[in-house]
Amino acid sequence: MALLKEKVTEIHHWTDKTFSFKTTRDKGFRFKNGEFAMIGLEIDGKPLLRAYSVVSPNHEDHLEFLSIKVPNGPLTSKLQHINVNDEIIINSKPTGTLVCDYLLEGRNLFLLSTGTGLAPFMSIIRDPETYEKFEKVILTHTVRTVKELAYFDTLNGLNDDEIYSQVTQGKFHYFNTVTREKWDRTGRITEWINNNKLWSYLKVEDFDPKHDRVMICGSEDMTFELKKMFEKLGSVEGSTKVQGGFVIEKAFAEK
Ligand SMILES: Cc1cc2nc3c(=O)[nH]c(=O)nc-3n(C[C@H](O)[C@H](O)[C@H](O)COP(=O)(O)OP(=O)(O)OC[C@H]3O[C@@H](n4cnc5c(N)ncnc54)[C@H](O)[C@@H]3O)c2cc1C
Repeated sequence: MALLKEKVTEIHHWTDKTFSFKTTRDKGFRFKNGEFAMIGLEIDGKPLLRAYSVVSPNHEDHLEFLSIKVPNGPLTSKLQHINVNDEIIINSKPTGTLVCDYLLEGRNLFLLSTGTGLAPFMSIIRDPETYEKFEKVILTHTVRTVKELAYFDTLNGLNDDEIYSQVTQGKFHYFNTVTREKWDRTGRITEWINNNKLWSYLKVEDFDPKHDRVMICGSEDMTFELKKMFEKLGSVEGSTKVQGGFVIEKAFAEK
């Protein structure tokens, strides 16, 4: 396994539970937007690595990651204290199922996330190819509190951004919900889909498995529930081997 060493260049703490950071990028580190890599720190002379989706799109010359802070987590209890110029280790072989190539062609693309499950979609929504393949790209992010809506301003402003407005051409839709606080939109994404509120709220066509495609990234419960819901709606799961109507990745492994 080839391990690359990259330097931390920027850090942003969103809340006491999440932060993001940018690093330098080796020219040899290639990935498809939506993939994850094993990254981490050298601790007591040994690499301690965990899976992390790449937030930055693959045309950028830096890398960015969004991270949870698990209080006693072997990696993140240390990673949350990194400083600019510290070294991060990255395995040079990214992988994953949340890649547009693993979906059939379609009309609307729904990217459904909770918590740090947002990370892989941050690269997909800034990829010009996504907008060549789909008419509308709808990103949903559900978190517990408003403060946890990472990248809120970037996402709200993506269609008006100096660079990315040319990429999205107004086709990008950002939708968030909060489950434990008052907010304009509350409740779990499963509720919004179950009673067809999501499509009418966004003023998009009702979900049709013949035309619409889905990527799901979140907790085990959320991914399981959404998988069942989309199967019931007539959509078929895709994989790295067979294209399908939806693809799934758990945002983290439960222990
Ligand atoms: C395919 C894949 C992609 C991933 N991408 C990311 C990512 O982009 N950002 C990220 O922060 N993590 C991501 N993770 C989780 C990550 O690999 C680690 O689990 C996390 O960094 C915590 O590491 P740790 O060693 O501190 O604790 P661990 O021992 O790995 O985890 C301890 C416990 O903390 C909880 N936990 C772990 N990660 C999360 C999380 N992201 N959100 C909520 N609870 C969590 C779980 O209950 C877990 O059992 C991903 C995991 C997988 C399988």
